[in-house]
Amino acid sequence: MKSAIHVIGGGLAGSEAAWQLAQQGLPVVLHEMRPTAMTEAHKTSGLAELVCSNSFRSDDRETNAVGLLHQEMRRLSSLIMRAADANQVPAGSALAVDRVGFSSTVTAALENHPLVRIERAEVAGLPPADWEQVIIATGPLTSPALAKAIRNLTGEAELAFFDAIAPIVHRDTIDMSVAWFQSRYDKAGPGGSGADYINCPLTREQYDRFVDALLAAEKASLHEWEASTPYFDGCLPIEVMAERGRETLRHGPMKPFGLTNPHRPEEKPYAVIQLRQDNRLGTLFNLVGFQTKLKHGEQVRIFRTVPGLEKAEFARLGGLHRNTFLNSPKLLDSTLRLEAMPRLRFAGQITGCEGYVESAAIGLLAGLFAGAEQRGEAPNLPPPTTAHGALLQHVTGGHVEAIDAGPRSFQPMNVNFGLFPPLARAPSKGPNGERLRETAKTIAKKRALTARALADLERWMAGAGPALAAE
Ligand SMILES: Cc1cc2nc3c(=O)[nH]c(=O)nc-3n(C[C@H](O)[C@H](O)[C@H](O)COP(=O)(O)OP(=O)(O)OC[C@H]3O[C@@H](n4cnc5c(N)ncnc54)[C@H](O)[C@@H]3O)c2cc1C
Repeated sequence: MKSAIHVIGGGLAGSEAAWQLAQQGLPVVLHEMRPTAMTEAHKTSGLAELVCSNSFRSDDRETNAVGLLHQEMRRLSSLIMRAADANQVPAGSALAVDRVGFSSTVTAALENHPLVRIERAEVAGLPPADWEQVIIATGPLTSPALAKAIRNLTGEAELAFFDAIAPIVHRDTIDMSVAWFQSRYDKAGPGGSGADYINCPLTREQYDRFVDALLAAEKASLHEWEASTPYFDGCLPIEVMAERGRETLRHGPMKPFGLTNPHRPEEKPYAVIQLRQDNRLGTLFNLVGFQTKLKHGEQVRIFRTVPGLEKAEFARLGGLHRNTFLNSPKLLDSTLRLEAMPRLRFAGQITGCEGYVESAAIGLLAGLFAGAEQRGEAPNLPPPTTAHGALLQHVTGGHVEAIDAGPRSFQPMNVNFGLFPPLARAPSKGPNGERLRETAKTIAKKRALTARALADLERWMAGAGPALAAE
């Protein structure tokens, strides 16, 4: 197998990438270190082992972004989706699977494929120079030896071992009759306008209640092997800051200085929460400095008490986990290759997507891109209006770095509608010409986004699209 493409990691992304390559008629060597070496979370030697929940989340292709991603993957002949559908267990509108059956189906499909060879050994350093095309899909728990080799290539700051996630809000759910745009002291900074942040003001009473709520809230528990999670880059969780003193947050991420509320210029806010643009589209804003380990339900409850965020919809909630991932927007090209060494392509959670389905989807794209490259063709990118395209954009360029100096701001994300380019015209009327309001309007917008995505996917597949796997 001299010209085989090497895939390192037989998890969700690596299994899908190997399958896509083999289905294009290309030989693949899949390197999986289990059971010779294990991660802290995997328990079996099966490929595509689900390390925690057995759910692929919502299967609603019309009004849910991950449901749409499922459907696109099915259209693209995904092995992961085929195995999930074949091993489904009842879970309402979610797609949940029998984890043993799911992993066995994926393992058997790859073991029995004539073009796939599976090598059960750790790749414990930089892949040998004669591996001309490599897909690295070693996941959030990449083995330390390989992680070290990657870090030597990328530079220390560009491969993180923990995420520190601040919540992200859909911009159009922030009440701008309460909040306002302004940068602190109106400073434009290198890439800003002087009015780059959205500011939410709190009175003293509201601040006190907010701090009390943080102190009393339920925290998410860490896995035993994560318990030594360091608080790095000065990224303390907000509840830990609150524990250090009532005024700590007001002198940290909630400081009110250099800001004037145009809605009430005569009133100085006691504290301010700032939100900063997170993606190039300007549809998502993150709560600056608000990394947190509070339980998700508690985050929604408490953040909605902040003036201006009463109706906030969250694209991502905060968290802090053991997670190996690249600063992909800086390091990877548009087809997921490491700019510094293009024979290495990355896939899965290590690229900065989050979740089983998203990891598999990025694995699918990596397989298509590597296949095209092997045939001497230019890889075709999925349209940004599709779930695959939107997710790829997040990983390779959709995120905007902080406009002021500070730690790197790229953090992992699930697929969500905030990553999609907005509709040219959002639907405002129902099928009978009636004016749509609130929930009905939101649902109509989601339906329009998913219909656009599936139509664009079909056009992409039919036109200049990749040589798609034959079933
Ligand atoms: C504890 C934990 C719980 C999670 N819970 C959920 C959840 O409930 N739902 C969800 O959607 N997502 C969850 N995730 C995220 C989930 O891991 C990823 O979404 C998904 O598994 C990532 O897919 P992947 O293919 O990138 O990595 P993985 O599925 O982890 O696959 C990576 C593979 O690479 C192998 N490997 C690592 N290093 C080497 C090496 N040097 N040589 C050879 N092989 C190597 C590993 O053994 C593994 O099989 C969780 C993650 C963790 C760590």
